[in-house]
Amino acid sequence: MMPSTAEDLDRKTFFYDLLVPVMNKYVDGLDQGKGMYLLFVKPEVSTPSGLMARPVLTSYYKSSNFRNRPFNRFNVYTSPNEIILCWDSKQSMYCQLLCGLVQRDEVLRVGAVFASAFLRAIKFLEDHWTELCSNIRTGYVSDWITDPSCRNATSLILGKPNPELADLIELECDGESWEGIIKKLWPRTKYIEVIVTGSMAQYIPTLEFYSGGLPLISTMYASSECYFGINLKPLSKPCDVCYTLLPNMAYFEFLPVEKNHEEVSNGASDLHCIEKEDERVKMEAVNLVDVKLGHYYELVVTTFTGLYRYRVGDILMVTGFHNNAPQFRFIHRRNVVLSIDTDKTNEDDLLKAVTQAKLLLEPLGFLLTEYTSYADTSSIPGHYVLFWELKMRGNSDLPELDPSKMEQCCSTVEESLDSVYRRCRKKDKSIGPLEIRVVKHGTFDSLMDFCVSQGSSVNQYKTPRCIKSEEAIRILDSRVVGRFFSKKTPFWEPFRMETK
Ligand code: AMP
Repeated sequence: MMPSTAEDLDRKTFFYDLLVPVMNKYVDGLDQGKGMYLLFVKPEVSTPSGLMARPVLTSYYKSSNFRNRPFNRFNVYTSPNEIILCWDSKQSMYCQLLCGLVQRDEVLRVGAVFASAFLRAIKFLEDHWTELCSNIRTGYVSDWITDPSCRNATSLILGKPNPELADLIELECDGESWEGIIKKLWPRTKYIEVIVTGSMAQYIPTLEFYSGGLPLISTMYASSECYFGINLKPLSKPCDVCYTLLPNMAYFEFLPVEKNHEEVSNGASDLHCIEKEDERVKMEAVNLVDVKLGHYYELVVTTFTGLYRYRVGDILMVTGFHNNAPQFRFIHRRNVVLSIDTDKTNEDDLLKAVTQAKLLLEPLGFLLTEYTSYADTSSIPGHYVLFWELKMRGNSDLPELDPSKMEQCCSTVEESLDSVYRRCRKKDKSIGPLEIRVVKHGTFDSLMDFCVSQGSSVNQYKTPRCIKSEEAIRILDSRVVGRFFSKKTPFWEPFRMETK
């Protein structure tokens, strides 16, 4: 739980306001239409102190800073505040999509906070478009929308029966494929605003499929602890996105880490020793003005709301400067690891390996829509398990799986992991063959539902790339439709320097 103050809301407002001129600099005519941003709140809980606790975005959306945001007076967003502020995320999603569809001719940009939330909205649309069209046809909001302010706000926007619009939308949704559906349903859209850096990068192919070639724009880098920086070149390709940290958001310091993302000093064995770690932050952290081009750092923040030299856990690389302000690429989150023996696989290593393996399936028309992993140590030796949700391009059918191709995918993941992993597999035999478990369509939605039921926020939800919870593993395991193991031990040569 992170402390939060009223004053900090103003700092966030300043941050959001700064995004507007940056976008206007690169995209013309945004004042000629609306933005369809799918935003959600989560219920708050009361803490023993009497103070309320809620996700950072819920706090912001509930604040008067958000509700009275200047542009909202001119109705530049398709989702009314009343719908965004509805606690029931299903009702909120339905009504936001309904309002977005009704105003489709005015929409110039669409988005959500993270790519995963936006794709969840597309999935929701796939499941509900007939009902949405019937509401547009009759001018009557479905009876299950019972939240009064949600219902009223939606009815006002829905207006009179509009069978022509319903026909148009039905025609697009009922087409052969949903490729480019965003552009078809919202034809004036200029870009999709969702964060696609870091762990969200794996959604890029799916977003590209639905977007019809629209730019994917990651505008900001922020967290519950504090908002960090903005992307001053919003039209850059996702792989080139860098964020300029705003020095008035917090006091930023940077702990040097080596290129392979290990701490520079004796590091690993000291990780659990908090005192030594604090000492290290004092001794080694450098200031924002002292970071060097091409170097890697772990971000440390001292915030206006009370965090002192707090390690956010993100590893960043300096990619350049805007005037004298350093710019950073998000590399990965520290310590998100799979580990069986001395191997330590972080989120970035895993993403790279999965990206290599899925290249084998893409020519066959398969899309890997979601993945996660866990270290299965229930047998000896333990092994890595990846859960993959696959679909065919253009429909949600479960593809016919070729066991030998899937086994090759397992081997490719292993070949792409680092030398310590491969040594453990080949020489030490301390890790067993990697396993891919293919799960049914919709499994990762169930995982998200589970995480949300455990307190995750819908806006800020990111599929965990490594699962520890037994309950979550049970959810995934109960939907497995195929299991495949690597049949080859990966290549490893003994005389190369090992970095971990
Ligand atoms: P939370 O506080 O749960 O919203 O998570 C904040 C974390 O999300 C950050 O510390 C990053 O690890 C990640 N994150 C936020 N924004 C971005 C971004 N633009 N690119 C990559 N990762 C991000």
